[in-house]
Amino acid sequence: MELGQKIKCEADRTAGFGKAIAAMPGCERLGSCIQCGACSGACPLSIYMDQSPRQVIALVRGDFKKQALSCNTIWLCSSCYACTVQCPREIGITDIMYALKQCAMSERAYPAGLSIPILARQFVRMVVRRGRITETRLVMRFFLQTNWKAAISSWRLGLNLIRTRRFGIRQQHIKQHLELAAMLAQAKNANAGGSP
Ligand code: SF4
Ligand code: SF4
Repeated sequence: MELGQKIKCEADRTAGFGKAIAAMPGCERLGSCIQCGACSGACPLSIYMDQSPRQVIALVRGDFKKQALSCNTIWLCSSCYACTVQCPREIGITDIMYALKQCAMSERAYPAGLSIPILARQFVRMVVRRGRITETRLVMRFFLQTNWKAAISSWRLGLNLIRTRRFGIRQQHIKQHLELAAMLAQAKNANAGGSP
């Protein structure tokens, strides 16, 4: 057992969680993990994670849903795919991280006070509605829901980003954003039955 790890009990398990994640696209090989730890060794961010990628895989396979969804690992993952490339069993670890993020967001099961899921939720909402994000609005919504004082202290940076056209002010959307929204709603409904 690694330092700081608590003993897990049968009562902590959510039967079927691992299977449900393995049924999601890219996660099919979850069950073939041999716990070699190559993913954790390859991950550039594992030193900041409360559960290493290897541990996350073990938690998911063991049906420890609550622990898997509440760790900061899935939110710190930068989707660099280093773990996936190194995995001797060709497990889609990065896709598993995405699947867990998706599940944590739909169940609001992420750690309290963590701001990354709030940004992700706003980002997804904007893309679903308009097919594109408007940076200024996204950042303002994020600050309003997390730390509005940070918006005031970052005003100079914001102004520079707008002036250099890195951040747009005008609401952006793709031409067929309504069709996209309808398509995504349909996909969401189709997925709802199989989500963990
Ligand atoms: S590298 Fe692959 S097989 Fe090894 S622990 Fe990570 S997921 Fe499991
Ligand atoms: S994809 Fe995520 S978990 Fe995998 S190595 Fe990169 S940061 Fe780590």
